[in-house]
Amino acid sequence: MLRQSLLYLSDNQTLRRTVSEARLSRRLVDRFVAGETLDEAIAVSRLLNESGLPVSLDHLGEAVITKEEALSACDMAIRSVERIAVDGIDANISVKVTQLGLDIEEDFCLANLERILRRANELATDDGEIFVRLDMESTDYTEKTIQLVEALWGRGFRNVGTVLQSYLRRTPGDVKRLNALGSRVRLVKGAYNESEKIAFPDKFDVDDMFVEEMKLLLTDGVYPAIATHDEQMISATRRFAFEQGIPRDSFEFQMLYGVRRDLQQRLREEGYKVRIYVPYGVSWYPYLMRRMAERPANLLFLATSVAKESPLGRAARPVAVGLGVVAGALAASAWRGRNSK
Ligand SMILES: Cc1cc2nc3c(=O)[nH]c(=O)nc-3n(C[C@H](O)[C@H](O)[C@H](O)COP(=O)(O)OP(=O)(O)OC[C@H]3O[C@@H](n4cnc5c(N)ncnc54)[C@H](O)[C@@H]3O)c2cc1C
Repeated sequence: MLRQSLLYLSDNQTLRRTVSEARLSRRLVDRFVAGETLDEAIAVSRLLNESGLPVSLDHLGEAVITKEEALSACDMAIRSVERIAVDGIDANISVKVTQLGLDIEEDFCLANLERILRRANELATDDGEIFVRLDMESTDYTEKTIQLVEALWGRGFRNVGTVLQSYLRRTPGDVKRLNALGSRVRLVKGAYNESEKIAFPDKFDVDDMFVEEMKLLLTDGVYPAIATHDEQMISATRRFAFEQGIPRDSFEFQMLYGVRRDLQQRLREEGYKVRIYVPYGVSWYPYLMRRMAERPANLLFLATSVAKESPLGRAARPVAVGLGVVAGALAASAWRGRNSK
């Protein structure tokens, strides 16, 4: 119900305009999103690299309907790969298969991915390849995304991998499947609304599965990415790697731009590789709402700043109140216990 409210808000154009225009909430946007242009994202990435953090660039966007939109997303991915090479940024990229036309035609999406991977291979240097990660979306796309990785693997590409979500009941099987293939996996908890039939509703189960799958990946996988801000998941990973004698450079942690910057630096100082997921682009609003859903405190801050600063004045108040109510409910649900994901 709370997630659905935020999903509704993520489509609300009045709120989007209000959030963009209020100065304080703009600061919140800037904290989680690296900018609207590739130039801005490269500048942020350079700063992160200077503090010892590699990045994964993500050009924000939602599912496309036309081939033109998909081709334009594909061109953008190629441009970002080219900028990484020209500017010497320590980076790879993350893409969404629905942005590259999966809903239009699977072969068309595959061809777009091949174009990106071929260009990334052309630009690889002795220092390393440019890796392309297929972000994982809702379960409508899980099987198709894994099949795309397998198809690309079959065509000889090795600089491609995807993401598995520990909230899905099917994931242990998928971990084994991708470990056997030899492609890299990013492990996350999962960010979409899924039914209990296919996803664990209880946070305890999601966390337990995360730990089990992390172990499978560290033991049998290829350079896995453990993507979380949860200190318990991070401690479990460090402990397991230590006990099993798994070297620190055979896996990496990943975190989102703007989230737990203290933890990012601490892990880096302890000698772990920490890659920062850097989102950018004009379609930042739904991404921001998903980050709000993960932390009620962010949403309260947003509601307060919208109410205080909106140039729409009284017209924006219902929106701010709506945000406040959702924030309060989220806070209450978080306080009630760990049982709601
Ligand atoms: C690099 C990366 C890539 C991702 N890619 C995908 C993907 O492809 N598909 C997908 O479904 N999901 C993806 N996710 C999102 C993921 O599924 C979770 O929704 C998200 O990471 C929050 O879960 P958590 O593991 O941090 O644990 P949680 O239990 O949600 O949070 C643990 C703690 O982290 C901190 N925290 C978490 N989120 C925030 C926030 N927004 N603001 C401030 N503090 C916060 C809080 O202290 C919280 O108590 C990705 C996450 C990362 C880090």
